[in-house]
Amino acid sequence: MPLMDYFTSKKENPIILGISLTHQLMRKYFNTVLLAALAVACSPKEQDASIDYTTLSDAERLEVAKEIAHETIIVDGHVDLPYRMKVGGFTLQREVLDVSVRTPDGNFDFPRAKEGGLDAPFMSIYIPAGLQQTPGSSKALADSLILMTERLAETFPDQFAMAYSPSDVETNFTAGKVSLPMGMENGSALEDDINNVAYFQERGIRYITLTHGKANLIGDSSYDTVRLYNGLSEYGEKVVAEMNRVGIMVDLSHVSDDTFKDALAITKVPVIASHSSVRKFTPDFERNMSDELIQAMAKNGGVMMINFGGTFIDSAYAAGSGKAREHLVNYMAENNMSRGDSAFKAYASEYMAANNPFPTVQRVADHIDHVKNLVGIDYVGLGSDFDGVGDSLPTGLKDVSMYPNLIAELLKRGYSREEIEKICYKNVFRVWQAVEDYAVSQKG
Ligand SMILES: [Zn+2]
Repeated sequence: MPLMDYFTSKKENPIILGISLTHQLMRKYFNTVLLAALAVACSPKEQDASIDYTTLSDAERLEVAKEIAHETIIVDGHVDLPYRMKVGGFTLQREVLDVSVRTPDGNFDFPRAKEGGLDAPFMSIYIPAGLQQTPGSSKALADSLILMTERLAETFPDQFAMAYSPSDVETNFTAGKVSLPMGMENGSALEDDINNVAYFQERGIRYITLTHGKANLIGDSSYDTVRLYNGLSEYGEKVVAEMNRVGIMVDLSHVSDDTFKDALAITKVPVIASHSSVRKFTPDFERNMSDELIQAMAKNGGVMMINFGGTFIDSAYAAGSGKAREHLVNYMAENNMSRGDSAFKAYASEYMAANNPFPTVQRVADHIDHVKNLVGIDYVGLGSDFDGVGDSLPTGLKDVSMYPNLIAELLKRGYSREEIEKICYKNVFRVWQAVEDYAVSQKG
């Protein structure tokens, strides 16, 4: 078994779990912990079920959530740091935006990742659809963002490390480093050459989001009003098969429903949606997944990683944010202000709080609940879209330091530690490993 032996691992061991609770909690729940320790010969699941986190106070539960966040690997399916670094000036020559230290802007940096227990944010190698007009430019940008991500790991080797497999993530986790696995957002970087699939696998890309906001050579996009193929193109069908062959996860976030179904029909291995939420809460928003697609993905053994963005999780917020933006743009013009003015910033945050309050961390948990209730706990993960959805993030989940708030909310709803571990990493590791194993089997 290439993954860690879960049963004997520290994170699964009921005795260690008991000891890792704070002293205060241990005294208070001594009997429970003692029972748990006695139950060591039984399965970890039985022991886990005997700890009732729902009876704790909110403050106590948050302490437990922080412990879990730090003892468990947390994988995030989508963090837009590379593009933020490109815009913010982390170039191959110099580091202007230094995320090894706390940064005033953005949602990700090393200190905050450590606070939140984040271990493996998939670095989004994001290629804007606009570049699709200019052949060659998408691949060139992908190459430069990959170099930039590698450069981040090389520049700060004590904090960051590249990761190309679940076992790499485990090694880095043990060493206290934040892993930088890479996913490519937009298959446009493959250009019109199928050989580029293998090329990007060798460059370290471990998932490819087939499209971004517009149809590309591979297939149709959910955001695009134009449907070129009503699903995957012929080239797109070959791309999916080639991704299976070389060991790149097929990411179905952003694609149209028809592309989604076509890809599921072709793939030989489980797929992911690296940053998509549940459409039930945002009717008509094709970018999120319908119950039908969630069920189809579960049948495939895949995992959908929930996007935290306000417009992804709450349709009332999404509707309000359009109106609020319009008001603020008008206000800015009428008062001769610019976006960066502190007076404007203050007005905007006051106006938003009064007229279009952010969703909360509970809303994200609602999405996880929905997937769990519909198809089970094995098919859901986290794909925040941090550094990609900016100001819309929910209260309590504003940056990578705040995963414990979500874990605490899940504990409050009766989720077991085992279920939380599945959400945090075991589900996506299962898919990632299956994809790697399939690729190895194809080489023989
Ligand atoms: Zn995206």
